[in-house]
Amino acid sequence: MIAHFLIFFCTLVTMEAVGTLAHKYIMHGPGWWLHRSHHEEHLGALEKNDVFLLALALAAVGLMVLGDAVVQCIGAGVAGYGLIYVFFHDGIVHRHWPVRPSPRHPYLRRLYQAHLMHHAVKGRHNSVSFGFLYAPSAATLKKQLRASRTENTDNACPEPLQQP
Ligand SMILES: [Zn+2]
Ligand SMILES: [Zn+2]
Repeated sequence: MIAHFLIFFCTLVTMEAVGTLAHKYIMHGPGWWLHRSHHEEHLGALEKNDVFLLALALAAVGLMVLGDAVVQCIGAGVAGYGLIYVFFHDGIVHRHWPVRPSPRHPYLRRLYQAHLMHHAVKGRHNSVSFGFLYAPSAATLKKQLRASRTENTDNACPEPLQQP
């Protein structure tokens, strides 16, 4: 039982690493034509970017339905990451839901601010904070944004952080 929980927990941590790399090198790379919808103003509840979430859900369900006990724990970890992502990213940061909770815990506020700074850069290049469950401090991200702006002066200035 403890081994299964450890596998589940390690999968969550691994998913954050995989998600960070995928966001940086795939979604802001060849997958930008889908992810772009998430970086632009849009109407409606769905966006092309949700295809990535659908792929994650299919992978999680596939692992849980087809795998043995160990693989099912991995599938549960993938599903858990997806659910945490939907809850915090879509619910708390982007407030796509009718109920709009505000992040009060320091950890949640850090994630919230970091993700707003990810969206502060227009376009696919020179963005910061590609992870979600781990976020550098706001001071570190501001430094990275300043550095990226001096590298590419065409970028728009980041918008001031919104206070929830
Ligand atoms: Zn992005
Ligand atoms: Zn976002």
